[in-house]
Amino acid sequence: MHSNLWQAVLGEIELSITRPNFITWFSNTGLLREDEDLVIVAVPNVFIKQQLERKYTDLIVATLKKNGVNPKQLEFKVHALAPKHTSTTNEDIVINQPQVNTSPQTTTTPQVTSTAASPSRLHINERYTFENFIVGSGNELAFAACQSIAQNPGTKYNPLFLYGGVGIGKTHLIQAVGNAVISNNPHAKVIYISTEQFVQEFVQALRYKKAGDFANHYRTADVLIVDDIQFIAGKEKMQEEFFHTFNSLHQSNKQIIMSSDKPPKDIPTLEERLRSRFAWGMSIDMQIPDFETRCAIIQTKAQNQDSVLSNDVVEYLANNVQTNIRELEGALNQLLAFCEMRGLEPNLAIATSLLGVSKSRPKHLSAKQIIERTARHFQIPVEDILGPKRDKDIVVPRQIAMYMLRSELHLSFPKIARELGRKDHTTAIHSVEKIEKEARVDNSMRSAIADIKERLYA
Ligand code: ADP
Ligand code: MG
Repeated sequence: MHSNLWQAVLGEIELSITRPNFITWFSNTGLLREDEDLVIVAVPNVFIKQQLERKYTDLIVATLKKNGVNPKQLEFKVHALAPKHTSTTNEDIVINQPQVNTSPQTTTTPQVTSTAASPSRLHINERYTFENFIVGSGNELAFAACQSIAQNPGTKYNPLFLYGGVGIGKTHLIQAVGNAVISNNPHAKVIYISTEQFVQEFVQALRYKKAGDFANHYRTADVLIVDDIQFIAGKEKMQEEFFHTFNSLHQSNKQIIMSSDKPPKDIPTLEERLRSRFAWGMSIDMQIPDFETRCAIIQTKAQNQDSVLSNDVVEYLANNVQTNIRELEGALNQLLAFCEMRGLEPNLAIATSLLGVSKSRPKHLSAKQIIERTARHFQIPVEDILGPKRDKDIVVPRQIAMYMLRSELHLSFPKIARELGRKDHTTAIHSVEKIEKEARVDNSMRSAIADIKERLYA
């Protein structure tokens, strides 16, 4: 299918634009038709279509000409080329492996190790490692303790109780222990579990009379990592069960690691005997890293995405977001997506206008404005978004509108459904989830959202 011509065109385009842009906009494109009247380019989704139309039509036509084709008309069509276009490259991978191979075949998850020793291994995110954790004041003590535990689990700091605010790296660090223990000893039984899931499994176990299996599973861990233990508050039966698990592990020198958003003494309705046990080993108060460390984090994360930021931009970001590394990452990604979409180099003016704006959001933004903005972005009538049409070009903008109603106005799902003229609110749930997921893995989706937001708040 005209592939030689298109390969030649791509080859030249690749040399004339930046690599991230090339990857974002031209991966998984192809030629559907080529004659002197009409050239049709196949594109994987509606955003790419739009961007290519807006920004790259001239370049493509010029490059086609160079290759001896001079069509009267150039069109883009959403068309899945042989392998699935939405590669399951997830953000994790993009962030940590700058040289991602974005060929369509990257659908296999990289680094799948065969340590199927425990199914709970699956809950640990392999990108949470010590290597990509930036150490500085605020987290250095926690980091040192975690490293020491990873080398000799169950010996020194047992249990380790890590506490501090949201988004400052607790989960990252405690999972890094899990990853390091497994890489030292693939047979170690490392269990990582969030407390919410822990509670849910326990309830199920009781219901199905499997309490014995449950106890056995957790009491045979070599390293048990329980995240957000504050959620055990008020769960009496669970506290009782955890008390026994704790004792059993502790007596046999198995490592216990817990994280929490507050110290044991501030967790309400925590049984006294657990409270005292949580403090047996080492409790560490984690803080948001200081300014210099935040700068280092931004610089590293930008580099991981093949971007270089000037110092003033880095400092602006580090100052702008002072409490939460997750938000800091979000701000950085927003900036990079914005610039990438427009082929700009990030600079202070852009950062200020973009992030300064989001700080002073108008209170009076309405659902109607969001829906209109989204429709306008995709150049479709509002009636289509509100109507019954199921074409992909309409469905995706509709889903994005739902996502924006959730993210910007925090509307309930039934309310979102009503705003979109829909009866069934499960559609709203699915739509929001779908867009959230795609925004994580798909640059063009992130750009579209950033663009709509920017205009909403402009
Ligand atoms: P918490 O569990 O404290 O809410 P997380 O561990 O989920 O926070 O961290 C939020 C995000 O910030 C994660 O993506 C994590 O990788 C990142 N992060 C936090 N601290 C650091 C750090 N010091 N270096 C690199 N990334 C960090
Ligand atoms: Mg966490």
